[in-house]
Amino acid sequence: MAIDLRSDTVTQPSKGMRDAIASAPVGDDVYGDDPTVNSLEERVAQLFGKEAGLFAPTGSLANQLAIRMLVAPGEELLAETNSHIVRAELGAAAVFSGITTRTWPGEHGLLKASDALEIARPNSGPYLVSTTAIAVENTHNFGGGTVQPISEIAALRKGADELGLTLHLDGARIWNAHVASGIALSEYGKYFDTISVCLSKGLGAPVGSIMISTKERVTKARVWRKRYGAGMRQVGVLAAAGHYALDNNIERLADDHRRAKELAVAIAAIDSRLIDPATVTTNIVGLDLASSSLSASEFAQRCRDSGLWLSALGPKYVRLVTHMDFDDAQQEQAVEILKKSFVA
Ligand SMILES: *Cc1c(COP(=O)(O)O)cnc(C)c1O
Repeated sequence: MAIDLRSDTVTQPSKGMRDAIASAPVGDDVYGDDPTVNSLEERVAQLFGKEAGLFAPTGSLANQLAIRMLVAPGEELLAETNSHIVRAELGAAAVFSGITTRTWPGEHGLLKASDALEIARPNSGPYLVSTTAIAVENTHNFGGGTVQPISEIAALRKGADELGLTLHLDGARIWNAHVASGIALSEYGKYFDTISVCLSKGLGAPVGSIMISTKERVTKARVWRKRYGAGMRQVGVLAAAGHYALDNNIERLADDHRRAKELAVAIAAIDSRLIDPATVTTNIVGLDLASSSLSASEFAQRCRDSGLWLSALGPKYVRLVTHMDFDDAQQEQAVEILKKSFVA
């Protein structure tokens, strides 16, 4: 069996999760009749101290519904250069919502409030694009699972308030940030107008994201979700997996973080230029192959030929992501394969 570290989305629903799916009470969610969806939306909203939530099939859609509520066509959303909203949603903000973006670069995706605030241009008049919102990704995926400092989030909120801007949190992996930092989900929730979270990453559900905000924004977003063709029917079978994931799979993310750190230490021992283990604080291990004669895709192929799957995400950048279907024995094997596959 191959060891699959391409993403934390590759996990299989466990027996307990499948049992929860099988026994979920359901109804037609387009009519608001699915009790399992309704309770999941309420539960996740409450975790973050917000009024309401909306179940979405993907994190991309949850992000897109959220930013659509904050930014009008022709207005501007600011985000970090390598953020998922900018790089990995296929231009959806522009295509669906007429939103333009401008970006600031952050080392490992790390948020510095001043970087975002310095390029913000609200109320730019009739000739220039007006900034209306800023997006923060926590943890930062392409940054290598970076946890955003709560002090910078607070500073960004303060600056955004002074400029009359709204804030969106792309919290696909906010659970990882919460476990790594010990900061409460409700504390993260305080600073943002809209939030998206994924149940299908480290939490191990097969499908599901929640967009969270005020009742008013969520009511509007529900109309847009239907308009985009994502009004779903007896989808409590999926929401049940989400409940199960929240009950069972948050605290165990600490194991994924430990294994990612151990992997990083072992990889740095192969060649210290591949990664600085100090930068690994959650479940993502990003390798810089600048010191190797191999391209990222060549290295990924060599690993794959030996039974280890990882993602080549740039010419010289590969990503390994630990998850609930990856154990200590596989970790030992993975390190052996990485050693054997690396060429200086
Ligand atoms: C995975 C991810 C999403 C959403 O991805 P989907 O594949 O659309 O569910 C959004 N933001 C970040 C940072 C992600 O890693």
